[in-house]
Amino acid sequence: MTPYALALLGLVFGAGLGALAVWLGIRRANAEAASQIVSRQHLVEIVAPLRAAVAVVTDSDTVLAASTFAKACGLVRGSSLGPSEVVEMLAESRAEGRAVERDLRLPPGPGSPAVQLAVKVVPISNGSTVVVGEDRSADLRFSETRRDFVANITHELKTPIGAITLLAEAADAAADDPDAVHTFLGKLSKETGRLNELVSQIIALSRLQAENPMLAARDVDVTEVLEASVARCRAIAEAGGITLSMSTQPGLKVVGDADELETAVTNLVQNAVAYSEPGARVAVSSRTADGRVEIRVSDNGIGISGTDQARIFERFYRVDADRSRASGGTGLGLSIVKHVAQAHGGDVAVWSRLGQGSTFTLRLPESQEGARV
Ligand code: ADP
Repeated sequence: MTPYALALLGLVFGAGLGALAVWLGIRRANAEAASQIVSRQHLVEIVAPLRAAVAVVTDSDTVLAASTFAKACGLVRGSSLGPSEVVEMLAESRAEGRAVERDLRLPPGPGSPAVQLAVKVVPISNGSTVVVGEDRSADLRFSETRRDFVANITHELKTPIGAITLLAEAADAAADDPDAVHTFLGKLSKETGRLNELVSQIIALSRLQAENPMLAARDVDVTEVLEASVARCRAIAEAGGITLSMSTQPGLKVVGDADELETAVTNLVQNAVAYSEPGARVAVSSRTADGRVEIRVSDNGIGISGTDQARIFERFYRVDADRSRASGGTGLGLSIVKHVAQAHGGDVAVWSRLGQGSTFTLRLPESQEGARV
């Protein structure tokens, strides 16, 4: 393999190998010494740290050098190429004297997850070949998540829309029975409310993902946020026989968007009320810890199992879909809380035990101005 060939490769495969090309190009001036310069040791040192899965293969199919990622993801096993598809691509590339490209999914190996690679096999000189696999797993995960989200939205919207259609038909058919019409219209109104809530939350979530609240950030008084959230949940808590209490550390301020923060805290309080039985207590509090503001919403309600705790922040994930729907839940509340927390440079954590209750803690950086108050 000549330095010239590797320089070309560098141009083909971008920054990592570009550096390799420049390095070799400088040394190309000393052409006679080139074969020693591109010693195997040099090649190994240059290729090993590359972020892509890269393997340089000799004409006798031996891997001369490979990046750490190529070994980790299974593109290279020992001194050979691992996946049979790549071995076939190698043969095709050699036979036709041209680059061969294909997208491959490599199965999970010991200690490494499955990866999606865009693989390019390029013949160079002396029968040597370079195999480069670009990791496309993140792109794939993103498009899968988006597809799932759209499928979930469609499913979630169909439920109230279907109910509204049926109820309208039923009300029409019962036109001569005012009591039945009254009942159907009451249910219709409830389904319309559910649809409205769902659409609002989908819009809220999309907005959160598209906009950065910190661009128009202001100092937000944490007590005011908590008071507003508690006020919004007071009636529903009382209707459910749940005691709602609040204790705040005065003067705490965070930087961000007050409406979004109020939405996040309200979602937590609404959940605490919705997933507690009559007679339960819900406590909302704020304090500072390690330069961060902690907003806690605790309940002694039904609790969440460890397995479910790992999934409740996912969009549309519900432990008990019927109970969630019965309380007007959409399965998006905690996902919105998580996004608001992250957009404000914070996070949200959950502690919970089945049958004992749950505590959700929203942690946000304290405003520097607030810290001086
Ligand atoms: P939902 O609209 O269904 O409440 P969320 O995203 O707000 O959706 O919450 C996801 C799920 O997490 C809920 O369906 C519920 O099963 C569970 N959950 C959330 N908060 C609590 C809580 N305080 N106690 C028990 N379960 C909860």
